[in-house]
Amino acid sequence: MVLGNYKSVVAARSADNEILKGAQDGGIVTQLFAYALEEGIIDGAIVAGPSEEPWKPEPVIATTKAELLAARGTKYTLSPNISLLKEATRSYGLDKIGIVGTPCQMQAVRKAQLYPVGMRDVPDKIALAVGIFCMENFPYQSLEAIVEDHCNVKLESVKKLDIGKGKFWAYTERGAVTQIPLKVTHKYEQPGCHVCLDYVSNLADISTGSVGAPDGWSTVFVRTKNGEDTWGKAIAAGCFETKPIEEVKPGLDLVKKLATDKITKNQKTLEARATFGVGKGLRNPYI
Ligand SMILES: Cc1cc2nc3c(=O)[nH]c(=O)nc-3n(C[C@H](O)[C@H](O)[C@H](O)COP(=O)(O)OP(=O)(O)OC[C@H]3O[C@@H](n4cnc5c(N)ncnc54)[C@H](O)[C@@H]3O)c2cc1C
Ligand code: SF4
Repeated sequence: MVLGNYKSVVAARSADNEILKGAQDGGIVTQLFAYALEEGIIDGAIVAGPSEEPWKPEPVIATTKAELLAARGTKYTLSPNISLLKEATRSYGLDKIGIVGTPCQMQAVRKAQLYPVGMRDVPDKIALAVGIFCMENFPYQSLEAIVEDHCNVKLESVKKLDIGKGKFWAYTERGAVTQIPLKVTHKYEQPGCHVCLDYVSNLADISTGSVGAPDGWSTVFVRTKNGEDTWGKAIAAGCFETKPIEEVKPGLDLVKKLATDKITKNQKTLEARATFGVGKGLRNPYI
């Protein structure tokens, strides 16, 4: 199943205009954590916060709505959110951790829960794991090259970055929009992403992305019992507007197609690694 196990899938967006204003898509991640904080479902969330360098995320533990708002938007570069997982239970003193991350980061969270090597106290303290869809990621220097050299835009003047409709988009504070075809960005991808077999964060409690839903909306998979409880309460509290996924365009078929494309392509890379050398191959982490 390229889309993983899930209990339900809908198109949704936050009902909070303040959240929506700076959100990447439907503000699902920020709204979920804001609600979970308010209700005591989590006592903090590990998110990709801003740093001194433009569009370079720094993992932070958000314990207020203001900190969540400051972390809105997709940074198309690595944000090592797992690096705060253990510390969240130590100096930050969290008992109920929220964490957002890419599919590989959701895998790390689940692995730490099942095989907690050096992760004492962590397994029982993951209260809400929110996954985002991810086709590929870029090292920071790659992002700089894509935005500054190919889009010809200074990173500090960028208001939003987006990948969609086969293109990489840069929107500046002063209203300029630049787009380049994704074939230009391929050589800048993080090589480790080429063995990744998860597109829609199969292991999250709730996972979300832009693909499948109209602009300003998100596709949301509710996957676990824990995710279902939180999602149900958030809906009852009026946090989200939803539409059946069958009623929106392009809908689930596109999500399925992109997930299949990613997995098929990366599976081939994994197979090629087995016979990479003369008489020997490269490691396969899945076997
Ligand atoms: C590298 C990357 C590739 C992606 N590729 C796709 C794709 O192919 N298709 C698709 O539909 N969606 C993709 N997404 C997800 C999409 O861009 C949005 O992040 C998602 O829809 C959430 O939007 P939102 O409005 O709900 O989130 P918001 O409310 O805006 O919040 C976004 C949250 O994501 C966190 N975040 C931002 N950057 C990172 C990062 N680099 N690592 C970990 N957490 C981060 C922020 O801390 C914030 O909490 C990708 C995201 C990333 C980071
Ligand atoms: S493509 Fe896979 S390995 Fe790369 S950042 Fe996305 S989820 Fe992680």
